Amino acid sequence: MRLPKFEYLEPGSLAEASGLLGQHSEEARLLAGGTDLLVAMKLRSITPRYLVNLKSIPGLDTISASDSEITFGPLVLLSTVASSSLVRETLPALAEAASRAASPQIRGTGTLGGNICLDNRCTYYNQSDMWRRQWEACFKYGGRRCYVVKGGKQCYALACADTVPALMALEASLRLVSSAGERVVTLEEIFTGKGDVPTTIQPNEIVAAVIVPRPKPGSSSAFLKLARRGSIDFPLLDAAVALQRNGDTCEDIRIALSAVGPAPLRAKGAEEILRGQKLSADLIQEAATRASKDARPISAIGTTVAYRRQMIAVLVRRTLEKLDTAD
Ligand SMILES: Cc1cc2nc3c(=O)[nH]c(=O)nc-3n(C[C@H](O)[C@H](O)[C@H](O)COP(=O)(O)OP(=O)(O)OC[C@H]3O[C@@H](n4cnc5c(N)ncnc54)[C@H](O)[C@@H]3O)c2cc1C
Ligand code: SF4
Repeated sequence: MRLPKFEYLEPGSLAEASGLLGQHSEEARLLAGGTDLLVAMKLRSITPRYLVNLKSIPGLDTISASDSEITFGPLVLLSTVASSSLVRETLPALAEAASRAASPQIRGTGTLGGNICLDNRCTYYNQSDMWRRQWEACFKYGGRRCYVVKGGKQCYALACADTVPALMALEASLRLVSSAGERVVTLEEIFTGKGDVPTTIQPNEIVAAVIVPRPKPGSSSAFLKLARRGSIDFPLLDAAVALQRNGDTCEDIRIALSAVGPAPLRAKGAEEILRGQKLSADLIQEAATRASKDARPISAIGTTVAYRRQMIAVLVRRTLEKLDTAD
């Protein structure tokens, strides 16, 4: 498959890049590693007139640390996130999530910023133009129907970026830059719950940094992914947990799930069950069951809703057990 024609732009700074995005508005797209964007362009899912290459801007591919936070440039490669000793020691859930995304080759090209901005996926959307033409357009293509949720009133394409639940559990924020200025938002607040427009990041905004607070003493985190193939596959489900302990008591906990529906989500009911309690096998099982009950998974090709619901309980329990036995 060939790429459609586009004009290639190489800004030298974030200010220049945001100026170009402002100037070309929705006709322009940012290019990072290109591992998702170029595939979408070949499939003619999107056909931007301009590609603004972030890689021409120096200094966006570093990880820096202060006493209070760890900051990632948007162009830090997934492979770097996975192998960094700083990330592995302080944010193990994120290192594990990055190490499970895609394949070694793609992790060596794909970036953290691109992963956060990854478009939602659906079997009816991630197809060639020729395949799609046999179907009436669905919501994601400006139509009035959804093939996944029959009678659905919106697009339910799945949020599938592996690093996102880990970053959500770790309370990450994003620094977004545009020609109008900049804003800092928590990662959790950007998701809309709509598969066709998954986040509130505007077309003229650039993720300029991913900021993760340094976990407090007594903290640990873990991530598990369920996928059909271990070597390379988008998730059927992701679970990430960040736990802060005081002795053997769970002082605070954040549990995030992804690939459940059109937005990643927190398992707040499960967190409530565990917060302030001593972790035990029974309590972990109770929390896992609650996470599964509260989530409303949509079906994914080859699996049923009932299976996905059951696997949420299994994945949450195993992620919690991983932490409970980690020390
Ligand atoms: C075969 C295959 C398997 C894959 N498997 C997985 C998987 O298992 N898990 C997974 O999570 N992903 C997977 N991916 C998707 C993709 O490779 C990764 O999500 C990768 O991290 C995307 O990063 P990138 O730098 O290549 O993004 P790009 O493709 O360059 O960009 C992706 C999107 O993000 C936007 N963007 C990029 N950077 C920024 C920024 N700084 N600010 C604002 N917008 C930005 C782009 O405009 C584009 O819309 C897979 C891809 C392929 C081809
Ligand atoms: S979830 Fe529905 S509307 Fe969204 S891409 Fe798939 S079929 Fe289209």
